[in-house]
Amino acid sequence: MKSIRLRPGRERSLLHRHPWVFDGAVDKGRADAGETVRVESADGRFLAWGAFSPASRIRVRAWSFDEAERIDHAFFARRIQAAVAARQALAIDSDGLRLVHAEADGLPALVVDRYGDTLVAQFGAAGVERWRETIADALLQATGCTRLYERSDAAVRQMEGLEERCGWLRGGGEPDDTGVTIREHGWRLTLDVARGHKTGYYLDQRDNRARFAALVRQFGAQRVLNCFSYTGGFSIAALAGGAREVTSVDSSGPALAHVGEHVRLNGFDAAASRTVEGDANRFLRDALAAGERFDAIVLDPPKFAPTAASADRAARAYKDINRLALPLLAPGGLLLTFSCSGGIAPDLFHKIVAGAAMDAGVDADILQRLHAAPDHAATLFFPEGDYLKGLVLRRR
Ligand code: SAH
Repeated sequence: MKSIRLRPGRERSLLHRHPWVFDGAVDKGRADAGETVRVESADGRFLAWGAFSPASRIRVRAWSFDEAERIDHAFFARRIQAAVAARQALAIDSDGLRLVHAEADGLPALVVDRYGDTLVAQFGAAGVERWRETIADALLQATGCTRLYERSDAAVRQMEGLEERCGWLRGGGEPDDTGVTIREHGWRLTLDVARGHKTGYYLDQRDNRARFAALVRQFGAQRVLNCFSYTGGFSIAALAGGAREVTSVDSSGPALAHVGEHVRLNGFDAAASRTVEGDANRFLRDALAAGERFDAIVLDPPKFAPTAASADRAARAYKDINRLALPLLAPGGLLLTFSCSGGIAPDLFHKIVAGAAMDAGVDADILQRLHAAPDHAATLFFPEGDYLKGLVLRRR
């Protein structure tokens, strides 16, 4: 077994059960891509078993902090079973859910979502890449699913020196047979595991879509605007909550094509739904100039700040859209505003939105603070997992 020796004082994060070792912390030791290594402190004490990533700044990702644990087939079977059992305990009201949330489930860089009887996996680093076949078998075994689609096309793979890879890894039949329908809060939603964003759908917003439906109903919101709508999950929530009219804005035409399908599938009036393909910022500006008013607005933009380093530019982008959206609210209107940037902490996001409200001359009450659904586990030891934050505001 190869050992990786850390520089003096660099054992702290592993001692706090944080699973990453950055390249600058390594004093000596090398291994092949994904090989299991023993990580030890400068004085030779065991810290963790981990997977070595020669090309990545995150040089080692820890598998286990238990010296007695072996990293073998049984290890992956155990971790995957535990992740699946944890989801069962959550009793999620949907057959679309995240089964494995990487570091938070003790399987760094592995994301697995389940859509009905179809699994979708993303292998994001050298460690899980090396154990790919073992992981695929363990996933089928733990879930009873027979098809597993691989979506290893996330940008992070480049930083790991890994090529993109997509396609059926287990079962699946025809390469093009990649459309699935799920039930979320009783709504029927379609997605394509090969062509959709991420693994096909934004499961992290599941509970917030249900909350939105309840809020629309509670406050009797009639005109709703869903910016960065993707396939219209929040739009369906608005209609389910009794909205009379919902506008979905997204820059992706293929994503918007699902919106009309969802309206039909769920038995809503087609005339109640409008889609606009284009830049949401531009849409907000035009709506403001035209003197439009909405009873509820959702702002769920893409990750403006993938890293802490880009937080400044991202902060301006978040502020801009919130500054434009707030004055579009009718008095008593609701704004659900989100950031899924790991680099923007919840308190910073709050400040950004407050600054936007100040500039817009709009006051609002905070009704709720929102996070990712609990199958996107966030653990105490891995704060980076808590990336999605949102506020429910009500204009005064
Ligand atoms: N709320 C959605 C998820 C939104 S993800 C849900 O519940 O499923 C972010 C979306 O923003 C993506 O669909 C992406 O296509 C879109 N997007 C990215 N940049 C955009 C822009 N400048 N204007 C409008 N949409 C944009």
